[in-house]
Amino acid sequence: MSLRFDAVNHVSHDRSNNPEVHSQKITAIFGESVFNVKTAREFLSDEAYKSLVNSIKGAKKIDRAVAGQIATGIRAWAETKGVTHFTHWFQPLTGTTAEKHDSFFTLKSDGTAIEEFDGAALIQQEPDASSFPSGGLRATFEARGYTAWDPSSPPFIIEIGKGKTLCVPTIFVSYTGESLDYKAPLMKATEALNKAAVTVCNFFDKNVNKVTPTLGWEQEYFVIDEALVNARPDLVQCGRTVFGAAPAKGQQLEDHYFGSIPERVYAFMRDYENESYKLGIPLRTRHNEVAPAQFECAPIFEEVNIAVDHNILLMDVMSRVAKRHHLVVLLHEKPFAGINGSGKHNNWSLATDTGVNLLAPGKTPKTNLMFLTFFVNTIKAVHDYADILRASIASASNDFRLGANEAPPAIISVFVGEYLTKVLNDVESRVGTKFDEQDEAILKLDLHRSIPELLLDNTDRNRTSPFAFTGNKFEFRAVGSTANCGHPMTILNTIVADTLNKFAAEVEALMEKGDKKEIAIMQVIQKYIVSSKKILFEGDGYSEEWHKEAEKRGLPNLKTTPIALDAMVTEKAKKLFQENNIYSHSELEARYEIELEKYIKKVQIEARIMGDLATNHIIPSALKYQNELLKNVSLLREAALPEKLYKGQLALLKDVSTHIQQVYDNVDAMVEERKVANNIANSRDKAIAYEAKVKAQYFDKIRYHVDKLEQLVDDELWTLPKYRELLFLR
Ligand code: ADP
Ligand code: MG
Repeated sequence: MSLRFDAVNHVSHDRSNNPEVHSQKITAIFGESVFNVKTAREFLSDEAYKSLVNSIKGAKKIDRAVAGQIATGIRAWAETKGVTHFTHWFQPLTGTTAEKHDSFFTLKSDGTAIEEFDGAALIQQEPDASSFPSGGLRATFEARGYTAWDPSSPPFIIEIGKGKTLCVPTIFVSYTGESLDYKAPLMKATEALNKAAVTVCNFFDKNVNKVTPTLGWEQEYFVIDEALVNARPDLVQCGRTVFGAAPAKGQQLEDHYFGSIPERVYAFMRDYENESYKLGIPLRTRHNEVAPAQFECAPIFEEVNIAVDHNILLMDVMSRVAKRHHLVVLLHEKPFAGINGSGKHNNWSLATDTGVNLLAPGKTPKTNLMFLTFFVNTIKAVHDYADILRASIASASNDFRLGANEAPPAIISVFVGEYLTKVLNDVESRVGTKFDEQDEAILKLDLHRSIPELLLDNTDRNRTSPFAFTGNKFEFRAVGSTANCGHPMTILNTIVADTLNKFAAEVEALMEKGDKKEIAIMQVIQKYIVSSKKILFEGDGYSEEWHKEAEKRGLPNLKTTPIALDAMVTEKAKKLFQENNIYSHSELEARYEIELEKYIKKVQIEARIMGDLATNHIIPSALKYQNELLKNVSLLREAALPEKLYKGQLALLKDVSTHIQQVYDNVDAMVEERKVANNIANSRDKAIAYEAKVKAQYFDKIRYHVDKLEQLVDDELWTLPKYRELLFLR
């Protein structure tokens, strides 16, 4: 029996074999596996506790002497939970997380066995880092990379089976200090934004000392039966199906969206939610998504650094917990053709230490002007750096989704809603009129009266915009479901920081010339509205008209990663990242190289899988069927039946034979193009060759003929689980 039918049989068995998931009060388990401030109070001396809390606030580095005390406290806590090993947990540029476990166990010089975790081991480790991507920053002979503790993100315990490991969140840097991960640049960008935003806030309120970007992500994913996945080598190796004919019923009835959650998936959800709560991940919502077998979860928003850690941790937890349920989570942006893909909306805002959300319209004229300032600066940042923001979400897998008429297009634009469009137009219409005392009326824009009700009204929403204002935050919707959102968040924080710095400088210059503060602010806001107008778009982002209109406006529409990535290394980008102290030129070049490499490898793997499946699954199945048809036709001929009685078989034979030949020819031609691409030395040229010559030319063509064969060949002979099975059996 083929793996496919075996798998189909398995599904009902697995369904009756669900692990039990206990219902418990969330507050009873929330954060129990985290060394949070409360636990710290319990396990640390006064001195160690104070030092830790200060460094969490970002105020002070922990000194080595106290680090020893903190490490001992953390170990004492971890041992009460049965932990035996620890690891520095980091986020290398592969896109996943990395860990290397060490035990607390050690031998003293006299041979006594003890458990130990000293300050040095907490603060810094040196994993053998030579095989993590570095984009040439580390020559292999100097393979050293260091992980360094990030005290702002608390240590936590990961349970795998019965084993428990203490994980210390760290940044990952090279011997010479260049960052090799997603966390270090994010922390730098967060700090740059903090500084810039505090300066601007202080125009309005001297009490603000700290501004923190906040992030609430929404994670979409597919859940598929494990046995079925195992019978699909493309899902196992690429996370997406490279072949598969559309099922009779796909998502056209839209009966999955917000429908009742299938029982087996529900058990899985409750299980991974419980694991997440223990880790302090504040999940709040769960629901079915549009596509069959697609779901979404979202937490309460947090400080961006913590939110990113929690998202990447969640992706790991989900995948592991799914195994217990004999399910597989697909995080890929486009696992199934013709079925919606998955994204990860990044809801982003700015919070002050005085408790104000800077992107929430205020209740007084003064706070309104503050809102308008941050609102307009964000729009201006997206306008000025749209290309870099686009590059931040570019990946081989996200290319399948952006612009596929189900996700925001690759064209970056900003949606602000009808009311705020009116406000912006109103402010703009006063350009040129001289400001005098009377014009201060404009400062008293009645935002606070009308906005709250309007924003609660969900009709003022646009699901097709890549960057939408949603009442008290911006929602960056073009981020892919597999992405480490640390990267796009680094870019967003940097461009907003840069814009705010320029804004502050312009306002100060006007004030020096004698303008009143509010008037100066208003003038710069006006100027920014005028100069960033073309990025605003309220219409349907999926429509053909928008693509035309965007072109007229001069907005780039970069559909493929190799081209979109160019924006990372322009003079503009180098200046931006250097001036804001995020990436040096060499760090930027290295990242660019790594992204290109990743792209090339991903497309290469998919091309190989296509060839492999075609040769080892599709063609053998099709040949068997072809033989049956041949046998049938020749027997009919022998029986001297008139040909009009087996016209159908003859036509079928012709079709099957044609598609078989087409699969052969195109796979061969694709292999040749791959060889050509592999010989290109320059990574940009190579990536472009893989995109334009290998992927664009052959992927769809090969798939077309394979999917035709799937629809013609005897179901018994087809070895790969079909879409109707993958998407509907669970
Ligand atoms: P929806 O967009 O589905 O209607 P919500 O508006 O309630 O749902 O929130 C969606 C996401 O936005 C959630 O993850 C939530 O935590 C996040 N969010 C809400 N407020 C903020 C904020 N001030 N900063 C960042 N994220 C936020
Ligand atoms: Mg949303």
